[in-house]
Amino acid sequence: MKKVLITGAAGFLGSHLCDRFIHEGYKVIGMDNFITGDKKNLHYLESNPNFEFIEHDVTEFIKIEGRLDFILHFASPASPIDYLKIPIQTLKVGALGTHNLLGLAKAKKARILIASTSEVYGDPLVHPQTEDYYGNVNAIGPRGVYDEAKRFQESITMAYHRFHGLETRIVRIFNTYGPRMRLNDGRVIPAFMGQALRGEDLTIFGDGMQTRSFCYVDDQVEGIYRLLLSDYSYPVNIGNPNEITIKDFAEEIIKLTGTKQKVIYKDLPVDDPMQRKPDITLAKKLFNWEPKVGREEGMKKTFEYFKALSKEELYKSEH
Ligand code: NAD
Ligand code: UDP
Repeated sequence: MKKVLITGAAGFLGSHLCDRFIHEGYKVIGMDNFITGDKKNLHYLESNPNFEFIEHDVTEFIKIEGRLDFILHFASPASPIDYLKIPIQTLKVGALGTHNLLGLAKAKKARILIASTSEVYGDPLVHPQTEDYYGNVNAIGPRGVYDEAKRFQESITMAYHRFHGLETRIVRIFNTYGPRMRLNDGRVIPAFMGQALRGEDLTIFGDGMQTRSFCYVDDQVEGIYRLLLSDYSYPVNIGNPNEITIKDFAEEIIKLTGTKQKVIYKDLPVDDPMQRKPDITLAKKLFNWEPKVGREEGMKKTFEYFKALSKEELYKSEH
């Protein structure tokens, strides 16, 4: 049985990846310190004999007994309000955490896949974003803690690949959504859905003309799985190129949820990218991947998840 370590396992993407690897017949070790994750995301795996969980902060030395075939490093705050609230931890998990995991991969002769992000392109001047675009990032702005941590993460990963011959994979993830996102993480989908369910107005930041391209979690996990098993060591975009303005997206959510509320406008956060859309030519060419789940279907499934949450969770405020 192949053995895989998944960091950030109690988070949104990490928990879906644990599911997928268990389903594919791997032995999975999940690791997390719960800083933005939730134990309940792994609840259903607790009794699975092929799943083991280690509570650990990956910025501290990581000790794993025995063999490891693969490492997937997904630990990191991922929503703008999370990384603005815990900026130093965000820098540390991208830098020190990644260094520890690369060292572990080297010691175990394991292949490592690193979760990078479309944020490495910053507020992009090239559209759609191709992997060879260097990006437009404000290193000293509030978002810089996340963007630069991820850029450093890519850089040190390539250095381990070139200097130590480590087998590395880098996925640049574009806005991904689905069940198990945290309702209060401030990202636009949980924010709008939470507002609709509580009967509040939907908050659009700026004039709503900024764009995003939303990818359903199952498609994202499929792309990550194929990338891991490919033989390509450089960054690959995984995301859904179907682009929409935030204003139109709010209207779609109003229709889907049936809320009687309206939209209200708030200030645009500093350095909020104006447009974002992945060019996925490379993923198609390398491992024949493209997204299958349309926004209507994916959003319906996501809304079902949020609708089923308890009143307590719906009204829990973290920020
Ligand atoms: P998430 O917040 O749901 O999950 C992140 C997990 O990492 C949490 O469970 C958190 O507790 C854990 N974590 C953070 N710091 C840690 C540390 N020092 N030690 C151990 N565990 C730690 O976020 P997500 O959306 O699932 O994102 C997962 C990864 O994917 C992140 O690396 C993120 O940057 C990347 N990513 C996600 C998206 C997206 O749209 N969801 C987009 C781009 C990149
Ligand atoms: N956004 C918004 N209202 C909200 C939350 C977010 O208009 O309540 C906007 C945000 O300014 C950004 C887009 O939605 O332009 C996507 O934000 P998110 O935090 O989901 O992700 P990211 O900015 O990292 O792409």
